[in-house]
Parts: sequence; structure tokens; C-alpha cells
Amino acid sequence: MEGDNAAVSVERVCEHVWLIDTEALGYKGTVAAYLIVGSRSVLLVDSGYPQATDILVGVLSDFGDMDLILFPTHVHLDHCGSMGALAREFPRAKIIAHRRAAKHLVDPSRLVESVRRIYGSGFLEEVGLPEPVPEGMVSSFEEEIEMDLGGVQVKGIYTPGHAPHHASLFVEPDKAIISGDAVSNRIPAAGRIPIPATPPPSFDLEEAIRSLKKLESLRAKRILLAHFGLLDLWEGYFMEEELELRRWIEEVWRTYREEGDEGEALARVVRRIAGRIGIEELPSTLIGTVYVSFAGALDYLRRTHEAASGALDGRG
Ligand SMILES: [Zn+2]
Repeated sequence: MEGDNAAVSVERVCEHVWLIDTEALGYKGTVAAYLIVGSRSVLLVDSGYPQATDILVGVLSDFGDMDLILFPTHVHLDHCGSMGALAREFPRAKIIAHRRAAKHLVDPSRLVESVRRIYGSGFLEEVGLPEPVPEGMVSSFEEEIEMDLGGVQVKGIYTPGHAPHHASLFVEPDKAIISGDAVSNRIPAAGRIPIPATPPPSFDLEEAIRSLKKLESLRAKRILLAHFGLLDLWEGYFMEEELELRRWIEEVWRTYREEGDEGEALARVVRRIAGRIGIEELPSTLIGTVYVSFAGALDYLRRTHEAASGALDGRG
């Protein structure tokens, strides 16, 4: 797996927002962090895997005198991996997280355990181990939190579904949502075909749909995807997201029942997505993404069989 050694990619995507490519596992264009710059404070949304620390320290050091706020959308390793290291580098920073995320930042042991179980130890070695964040640096919120970065109002909004500790951020003057994993992945290298983000161990379809409706009500003009980049919103985007999500859950269930074997079912789903993108074979990073969403969807269906049969009846 060869990384790209070109300069760190930082790109202005809205008037107040910059996209930082965290180059996950050496690949550009897969995991983004976003920096919002006000006159008084800068706020970093997400922080990539632990191996992204150097990239982010480099970018944040340019804002030496300003107040720094760190906002992890949730505590999956591709979003909060280097929060602890950043907290060590910038001890005056403030970390704002949903209440259910805060405890995992302070003690990442359960997070690490769950990553080890789902992805294996080799993966953890590759992306690095997250450091704990000092408890005193973390402030948490429940439903919403408003912040003024100096002329730039932003709002953190609880958007569970992908995970019970998931939040999104709305940048009011730019009418931009930074969505974490509350919406589908659309990776440029995969033709921006939507791939729902439904990972184990706690994806919840109904919560995810409620969160889509919350985001829709913001009447944003654009969405900034963690995976990956700026998407100008169109009429009906959120409805398409909901349908895509329901269709995905239904597809995973139907394929699994028809094949009777997880491996075979996954292979068929992967072939179908490759066909939709118009390529022969999915690149390995995308197979990983599909595998995780497939496993999480199946896990959700097993966990909530009754609710699931409701979701599968005629609505899929
Ligand atoms: Zn993610």
C-alpha cells in the first residue's frame, strides 16, 4: 500500500470551512477533517485515524494564537483517532462532544476493543492506537450546542443512527452541514455512488432516518462529507438518502437469506456495487467499507428482528 507523498491537501470548500485530507492508510480522498475559521476561534471537526496526527498538528499550528475547539462527530477511529494526541499537543484546546462520546474519548479502551474485534489487531497496528483525552478538557452536550467562533455561528446537533454517540455540525453562515457518518459515503474514486454507512455494533435504522430529517430541517445548501468532500445539495437529497438506506438494509437481508452464507452474500453485494460504479472489481479500501456496512446491517437486523420486519415490509 503506497502512500502519496505530495504536500498535505488543505482546500477551502466554503467561505469559512477548509477540508483537510487526513490520508487514511496513505490514501487521499477517503477520510476528511474540516476546519472552521472564525475571527476568535478555530474549530476542527473530526481528526482522522491516529496516524493523521502530524498532518493535523501541522495545519493547526498555523492558528497559534486562536482558541482551538475540537469536535469529534463520533468515536469511531477514523473520526476521533488523533483527538488524544491533539489534546496533548494543544493543551489549551477545548473538546466538545456528545455526552455518549465523551466517556470514550477519556477512556478509549472499549473503543479499541471493539475495533480489534471488528477489524482485527493488524488494522489497529496500521492506523495507530488512540490516546486518552484528559477529562478536564471535554465538555459534553445532549441535543444541541451553539458556538460562536467570532463572526461564525456553528451548531452541534445530536444525530444518532450510525452510532448512538453521533453528532453533526451546522455552519450557519455557509449553510453547510458537516455530517460525519450521518449520511452515505460518496467517495470520489468510486464515482460518488452512495454507500450507506451502517457499521456494527450499534447502527439503528430508525434513529438514522430521524437524524436525516433533523438535518433536512436545517435547509442547508451543501453537505461536507467525511467520506468525502463537498456535495452541493439538491431538492430531495435527504429523501434519496432515506430510500438508499432502506434499500440497502433490505438488500443485505434478502441477499443473506438467498445465499444462506455471509461470505457469499457479501461477495454478491460487492459485485453489485462494482457494477453500479461501472468497474470490474472494487478497490480493497472500498471492499472494507462495504464489508463493515454489510456486517453492521446484518447485526442490526438480527438485533431488532421485529422492527426490521416492519422496515422490510413494502417500504424497502
Ligand atoms: Zn467514518
